[in-house]
Amino acid sequence: MEQLNIDALRVKPVSPQSHLIDGQYLSASDSGQMKVLSPIDGKVLTTVAKGTAEDMNAAITAARSAFDDKRWAGQPPAARKKILTKWAELIETNALELAVLGVRDNGTEINMAIKAEPGSAAGTIRYYAEALDKVYGEIAPTPGDVLGLIHKEPVGVVGAIIPWNFPLMIGAWKLGPALATGNSVVLKPAETASLSLIRMAELAHEAGLPPGVLNVVTGEGAVVGETMGLSRDVDVLVFTGSGATGRRLLEYSARSNLKRVYLELGGKSPNIVFGDAPDLELAAKTVAMGIFRNSGQVCVAGSRLLVESSIHDEFVAAVGKAAERLRVGDPLDLNSDIGAVNSERQLMQNLGFVDKARVEGGEITTGGTRILEETGGYYMAPTIVTGVTPDATIAQQEVFGPVLTVTAFDDEAEAVRLANSTVYGLAGGVWTSNLSLAHRMIREVRTGVMHVNTYGGADGTVPLGGVGQSGNGHDKSLHALEKYINLKTAWIKL
Ligand code: NAD
Repeated sequence: MEQLNIDALRVKPVSPQSHLIDGQYLSASDSGQMKVLSPIDGKVLTTVAKGTAEDMNAAITAARSAFDDKRWAGQPPAARKKILTKWAELIETNALELAVLGVRDNGTEINMAIKAEPGSAAGTIRYYAEALDKVYGEIAPTPGDVLGLIHKEPVGVVGAIIPWNFPLMIGAWKLGPALATGNSVVLKPAETASLSLIRMAELAHEAGLPPGVLNVVTGEGAVVGETMGLSRDVDVLVFTGSGATGRRLLEYSARSNLKRVYLELGGKSPNIVFGDAPDLELAAKTVAMGIFRNSGQVCVAGSRLLVESSIHDEFVAAVGKAAERLRVGDPLDLNSDIGAVNSERQLMQNLGFVDKARVEGGEITTGGTRILEETGGYYMAPTIVTGVTPDATIAQQEVFGPVLTVTAFDDEAEAVRLANSTVYGLAGGVWTSNLSLAHRMIREVRTGVMHVNTYGGADGTVPLGGVGQSGNGHDKSLHALEKYINLKTAWIKL
């Protein structure tokens, strides 16, 4: 990856974007458009179609027809595999273009975006392409005079609603297993991160995906997202985003056709450091990156540092030093460690949380402010709040920004109690040299993924999904396929 190539792509004009419905580029039915502001400098980058209910319904109809006439599900597995594999290759060939476009739209530092976005998306699509002819139905252990077969069938039309923090990675987590199992999809990107997903969908068509199998409708969640949620022709909703929207989707399902709803929601994940951690210097750096990468806009971010009292001062100082060493700046500069916050609204929300933390007795020992305001972009200094009580707002609610809270504990039981003191349960980490303690913490902390002596980076072979108000269902791994299939029993008298 060279700065020169990035600099050439960063000034490339981006034409106004349309929906992609039934293989056609379509404007909004009322010609409405939304401005796309770049978080790098706050300037208008381009526009995307501001979808209407009519647009969403047209996309759902296209997806339904594509499913019903079996233009995708009816193809031999080897043919579908070839197309999805080709798509993964095209994503890789166009990786830098996709990554830079995405960064101009959402502000993630390019060093991370290149791996986490096209890199990860291509890997995910390839993983499910390879899996699709290796997943078998079952024969049940019945008495000899009957045959019980369990067929795995595609569900039909999948509605996928994606957030703005990692659109390609999270988009691929839904699209890979949904398409591999033969479904049709309508995808709704987030208002502030549509561009790279539209381009990735175009590449799917270039790879040979038939029209109507993957449709993209841009626009506001409250309009096109709601229409999708309430549609009686969508069979499964898969979602990553906030708990507030997740609740609405469950309600839409109840008010319409009882469609299945899978939610991947937020977290308030604890990173728990015991005094016997193998390498405190490395732990401090990893704890810092575990919250500050992508400006904290990571669902599994380790946003609560729980640290044993005996090492509290020295460890917090080391994390502070690691945070201050991070260079926040232009996300398309290879020298930047951390890029921009996605939107001005999100930045203001982050700062509001910091103000409230101060009022509730926390001490801001690092950062706490907006920086680089002169660029017109949305940047925030990595922020550490110490002395946070377990019931403080900042210890309970997800910030989704570069803000780490610190709370001390005296023993294992207190560490577990603090770790489990929120409504969330997405991720967590424990740092210790004591194997038995590590295994006890894995058991006791209520969460979907637990890291030991590291944080983040779990690859596509393992599931990601939360417990409690972090959601249900899993992305990644073969388990993700379960969301996109119906089990059908054939009971045959012999
Ligand atoms: P959000 O819920 O506001 O938006 C997510 C998506 O939902 C967007 O596409 C939006 O347009 C759509 N939406 C909004 N209102 C809707 C409605 N009424 N009906 C249908 N769709 C609607 O969340 P966000 O601010 O974009 O994303 C940040 C949140 O996502 C954070 O809370 C974060 O923790 C969570 N997140 C979770 C994971 C995970 O894997 N669990 C991953 C990334 C982000």
